[in-house]
Amino acid sequence: MKTLKILILWVMFWVAIPGQVYGQEHVTVTAQSGDGIYTLLRKNGAQPTPSAIAEFKALNAKALDGRDVLQAGRSYRVPSSGKTYPIFGSAYEKVVVTGNSLKGHVYYIDGGHGGPDPGSVGEFEGRQLPEDEIAYDTALRLARNLIQESATVYIIVRDDDDGIRDTETFKVDTDEYYLGGEKIVRSHTQRLRDRTRIVNRLYDENKSWAKSQQMISLHVDAYGGRVEPQIDVHFKAASRGGYALSRSLRDTMTAKYAEFQPNRVYKGGIDDSANLFVLNNSKPVAVLIELGNIRHSGDQYRLVKPANRQAIADWLRDGLLKDASGKKL
Ligand SMILES: [Zn+2]
Repeated sequence: MKTLKILILWVMFWVAIPGQVYGQEHVTVTAQSGDGIYTLLRKNGAQPTPSAIAEFKALNAKALDGRDVLQAGRSYRVPSSGKTYPIFGSAYEKVVVTGNSLKGHVYYIDGGHGGPDPGSVGEFEGRQLPEDEIAYDTALRLARNLIQESATVYIIVRDDDDGIRDTETFKVDTDEYYLGGEKIVRSHTQRLRDRTRIVNRLYDENKSWAKSQQMISLHVDAYGGRVEPQIDVHFKAASRGGYALSRSLRDTMTAKYAEFQPNRVYKGGIDDSANLFVLNNSKPVAVLIELGNIRHSGDQYRLVKPANRQAIADWLRDGLLKDASGKKL
C-alpha cells in the first residue's frame, strides 16, 4: 500500500511538471546544412545525452517523421540547459551556465554614459568611435561571462537593439535606458544621481542574502594633447574595498598580458583616490575601469576588435573570480 502511494506520488510528480523532467528549457532554432541532432544540441548548449536526444525526438516527432535526419532551414525545438537573455542580442542571447563559482555574488555592470551622452567620441579610420558603445559591448560580454558562473547580474544601462556586437564599427545612438525602464536624462549631475540611486536600491534589496555586491563601471578614457598617450586597461577606486577589488583585477591583467602578450609590458595602474560621484556614493564595492584611450590609434585599434573586447571581458571575469574566491563565505 505504502509502495503504491509512493508510486502514485512519483508518477504525479513527473506528470505535473513535464517541463522540469530534464530541468531544461526549450528553444526553437533553425537547422543549418550539415546539422544533425548531436550538433544542434551542442550548438545550443545541451549535452547530447541519451535523455536529451530522446527529448529532442519527442519534441520534434512531427518534423522528424520517424527519421533522425534534420533538414536545413527547418525549425526544431531544442532542449537546452541555458536561458535566453535577449539583451545580449540574437547571436549571444542563449547563455549556458557552466560553473557555480559566483553563486550568491551580485554584480552591477554599468556601461558608462549612454542615452543622450555618448561619452568621449574618438575618430578611427574616418569613423566615429563613441565611448559608450565600446563600454556597453564590453559590459555585456562581462555580464554574460559572470552569468555563466552563476552570478546574479544587473545590467544597469541597457539598449534593446544593440546586443553583443562582433563588429568594428559603432554608430552613435541615444536609445539606451536604465534597468527598470527609466530614461537617461540630459543633465550630467542628475544622470550620475539616477544611476547611483538605482544601484543602491538594488543593493538594499539584495543585502540580506548576497555574499558580495560589487559595481563595475566601464569607460574609455579620453586623454588628449599633441600626442595622445596609449594607456592600458586601468582602474579607479575611492574606497578600501574598491582598491582591493581593483588590485585583484589589475593583478589578473598583469598575468594575462605576461601570458598572451609577453613582448608588451602591461602598464595599467590603479588610481585609488578617484573623486568620482558614482564611486563615492554607491553602496556596493565599486570600481571604475578605463579600457584605454579613445583618442590613441593603438588603443582604438585594440578596442574596435571584437575578439579583444571579449578578451578583456574574460580577463575581468577571471579577476572577479579570483576576488570572489578570496572571500570568506
Ligand atoms: Zn567615461
